[in-house]
Order: sequence, then C-alpha cells, then structure tokens
Amino acid sequence: MEVIDLRSDTVTKPTPEMREAMSTAEVGDDVYSEDPTVNRLEERAAEVFGMEAAIFVPTGSMGNQIALRLHTEPGREVVCESRAHVLDWEMGMAAMFSGCQLRTVQGERGILRWKDIEPALATTGLYYKAQTGLIWVENTHNMAGGSVTPLAVMRELRDGAHGRGLPIHLDGARVFNASTALKTDVATLTAGYDSVNFCLSKGLCAPVGSLLVSSRKNIDKARRIRKALGGGMRQAGVLAAAGLIALDVMSKRLDDDHANAKLLAQKIADVDGISVDPAEVETNIVIFRTEFDAPAYVASLKERGVLASAINANTVRFVTHHDVSQEQCACAGEIAVDVAAEMLLETA
Ligand SMILES: *Cc1c(COP(=O)(O)O)cnc(C)c1O
Repeated sequence: MEVIDLRSDTVTKPTPEMREAMSTAEVGDDVYSEDPTVNRLEERAAEVFGMEAAIFVPTGSMGNQIALRLHTEPGREVVCESRAHVLDWEMGMAAMFSGCQLRTVQGERGILRWKDIEPALATTGLYYKAQTGLIWVENTHNMAGGSVTPLAVMRELRDGAHGRGLPIHLDGARVFNASTALKTDVATLTAGYDSVNFCLSKGLCAPVGSLLVSSRKNIDKARRIRKALGGGMRQAGVLAAAGLIALDVMSKRLDDDHANAKLLAQKIADVDGISVDPAEVETNIVIFRTEFDAPAYVASLKERGVLASAINANTVRFVTHHDVSQEQCACAGEIAVDVAAEMLLETA
C-alpha cells in the first residue's frame, strides 16, 4: 500500500541534489568556526534576510530558545500568541533556561495585532508586575493552520514593540511559506525585527538544521548560548551543504505545497462531520475540526495509507510538502472523505 505522509513537512527527505552536495561538502571544525560550508550558509542566510549575521543550529527549538535568552533576563515576561510553538512544544524552556514566563494573547486565526498586545504589556507603572522583556511573533502560525501575518501587520507589531522600547523576535519556522503566500521576500517581511529563527528541515527538505539571524553582536553572543545548550557541532558542513540548497532552491517551490493544501481542504470542506474553510488555508497546513473522535479518525486513515496528526480529541492536521504530489493529495482527500463517512456511521 502506498503511504501518503501528511503528518508534517518535517518528514521531507533530502533531495538527490542535497545528497550529492552533502557527499562532496568541504568541512572543518565549526566550534573553531572553521567549517567553510557552515560559514557559507550563515553568510548566505544573513544576506537573504538583510541582517548582519546568522548562526546555524540543530533545531528550530534551539534557535528560538537562544533568541529568548538573548533578548531577556530572568523574571521577564515574553508576550506571545496563545497557541505559539514556544508555549506548547518547547518543553517549558522559557522558564527552565531563561527564567521567563510567557504571557499569552489570543490572535484571530493566530494573527496578533498591536492593539491586542498593548494591554498585556507591563513596561511602566506598577513596579511589582513582571516587566515585559520581549514580543514574540509566529509567522506562519503552525497551530492556527499555517495562517499568515500580512506585511502591514508585521510592521505594525515591529513598530509597536520598538515604540515601547521592546525587542521583537519572529519564530519564522515557516517564514518562507509566509513570504511565498504574500508574494514578498523574507528580507522585506522581517525588516527591522531584532531576530528571526527559521527552519531548513521542514518544507525546505534539509535533513537537519535551522538558522537564527540577527545583529552581529547578538549572533556573537548566540554562539556562546548555543554551546551552553550543547549545540556546538563539529563537521556540520555536511548538513549545511543541504541547507544551502534548502535556502536557495527549495524555498522557491512552496507555492505547489500551498496549492495542494488548498485542494485537500476543498475536497473535505463539504463533508458531514468536518469543518474547515478552504479560504482560510493560505499555506501548507490544513487544520480541521471533527464531530467524531480525531485520534480514531487518524487511526482509520492510517489503515488506508494516509498519515495525519490528531492535535486533540476533535482536531486533525494535514501538512503538504515536497514529498507528496498533487495526485497524492487529491487521493488523500478522497480517502479522508470516505473515512469521515464511516466514522459518522459508527457514531450514529
Ligand atoms: C517546528 C517549529 C519550530 C521548531 O522546530 P524543531 O522541531 O525544534 O526544529 C518552532 N516553531 C514553529 C512554529 C515550528 O513549527
């Protein structure tokens, strides 16, 4: 049976071009800053984002946690969206590693607006409130179904934060999906942000790695923090070689994944027991509510060769990516429809 894996874009495998580049990559010891391929990737990332410097890290979680540590001191609050990755999927590290707490604000479809953030800030006035230290944005927003924060709102958030003397970080794990959907480039989209973290290992198909981009001063400090977290890698050039292709080649094809996600959402939109609005599917993530038990639905889909994620008792996520074709997404959509009908019969 053919398996169509829509659990995440992290399941993408390195492309043949990546494997070729990996096998011939020039390498050195990156803890001594002597890996030429890592150095090239970091320089290229800084250039693409129009920032001074970048650092290669093993995971997006590490990039985010380094940023959090860079911009804060213990006892501060970090304002983020209510379903942010940093809150739900990073092991409480804001508290564990940086001694900060997260103050959540709900954004419509995960999109924060400055008017929603402002009342949550503590920067003046009562000395006995934990002071806000950082504003945190996620674009695209994973758990809100890959929703895109538009350019004007990205700027509004940046100006709002800076107007209050606060740094602003972008968790841009999928920032290339956002820039693709917005038909802009990442440098424009993230201009003026104090730091941006993005993943090479999701829709961009690299086997491992993320980059944190920021000022030269911040990245010099980030190198020490990365080492403290155990993220000092040695001949990481074999990974960076794939990363360069991810950054320069694979970032240009995400429209296909977005079209496939839309197609999938359209296939299931009118099905009884499922609620999803295809118009809200802007990138490569489809999140939908089910009237039936989501884990049981996902288990039945698996028996038919379609892998999905149950986010909770009645929410399912599909993620499209390079390693699933349009035909496979259409086929998965049909299986999703059939299995939903079976679920409703069972619960009737
Ligand atoms: C995947 C992801 C991360 C971090 O990813 P790792 O699995 O640690 O590489 C961070 N933020 C968002 C929004 C993500 O989707």
